[in-house]
Amino acid sequence: MAESNMLTRDPVHATPRVWGKPGELAPDVFMYPAFVNTYALRTPVGLLVIDPGFTHASETVQGAIRGWSDAPLHTAVYTHGHVDHAFGLRAFLHAGERPQIIAQENCLDRFRRYAMTHGWNARINQRQFSLPQPHFPRHFDWPTLTFRDGLTQRFGDLEVQYHAAKGETDDACWVWVPERKYLFTGDLIIWQAPNCGNPQKVQRYPAEWAAALDTMAGLDAEWLFPGHGLAIAGRAAVRQVLTESARYLRIIIDQVLARMNAGETPEQIFHAVEPDPELAQRPYLQANYDHPKFIVRNLLRLWGGWWNGNAAELLPATPETQAREIAALAGGVDTLIARGRALLDAGDSTLAAHCAEWATRAAADHRGAQELKRDVYARRLNEETSLMAQGIYRAAMNDARLALGEEPDRVQRLVMGWNED
Ligand SMILES: [Zn+2]
Repeated sequence: MAESNMLTRDPVHATPRVWGKPGELAPDVFMYPAFVNTYALRTPVGLLVIDPGFTHASETVQGAIRGWSDAPLHTAVYTHGHVDHAFGLRAFLHAGERPQIIAQENCLDRFRRYAMTHGWNARINQRQFSLPQPHFPRHFDWPTLTFRDGLTQRFGDLEVQYHAAKGETDDACWVWVPERKYLFTGDLIIWQAPNCGNPQKVQRYPAEWAAALDTMAGLDAEWLFPGHGLAIAGRAAVRQVLTESARYLRIIIDQVLARMNAGETPEQIFHAVEPDPELAQRPYLQANYDHPKFIVRNLLRLWGGWWNGNAAELLPATPETQAREIAALAGGVDTLIARGRALLDAGDSTLAAHCAEWATRAAADHRGAQELKRDVYARRLNEETSLMAQGIYRAAMNDARLALGEEPDRVQRLVMGWNED
């Protein structure tokens, strides 16, 4: 079989990608890489599909898998219940196939929560991925078999193990085929700094994530098939990616814990903690999606309360009242705007953003305030590599544009490759 451009034996020098040509990239393993990776494993009794993917790609992915094998779909497994992984079975089900659908038991609560908070999640995804409309699925292909800690399934004489974990989600599951030394990690490996900080979404689990990575590193897998990005071949390469990803997380976790236990406030901890600079350069640990500072926030949320350490913020005045007070102290909104412009010109878009927020909250109808806000977030958007931060900055910029009667910026085809066709 020809070597795929979705496979690397040298991850330290690889160029990450999340799109590639579908095909069989290891014996009996078919990969469909379209932002998310869908896999089909050929077993003696039929196919095991790991992460059927997005709803909108269901027909395409099913067609590609059916072009590779006409064996019946015996089982599908969701490595977790996210929109890009667990919503693509439609085409198989419409074709009359009735696979066992396996997931970790927390996937059920996830789907229930998705139904309960549909509007909220639709808006989060619109903002995070700069979609033209709020969008979130309402239809679920529910698991038919769930497990708590682990499950072993026999496909004829081929054994497949499912292991529960927590990380990006509380319903993670990784898949191990001992005889082949195949490891399917789901989103425990994504060719990005771990997605365990997301500012808009529910709790993530950095420590459990690191533990799962170390457990997987102990398997001596020959092949690693991630939820997104390149497959990795070779025992040493697989182990390095797993152990270094765990270490990246632990270095952040240890700093947060030490500072929490030393009595620092959440804001002090947020500003002080940094990722390991060498590991942060690895192609598989770049912060182009999530942001390491957001991981700090998630740990504070997990182990602490929500109070930020500023007593005035405990039962605060409204943001508008605070902003009007600051504007009055400054001598008027125009002074605030001028100061924001000066900061922006001097390259301090961080502080300029605070001026813009005060100015627009003190005087929402003031064109100069909205223009400052628009320009500040255009700059922050440009300076930021984290897609999650970019999404929020673009949304703030667009709020200002709409207030000014301008067209919002909808030009982005998502960096990570969301194609809502
Ligand atoms: Zn994913």
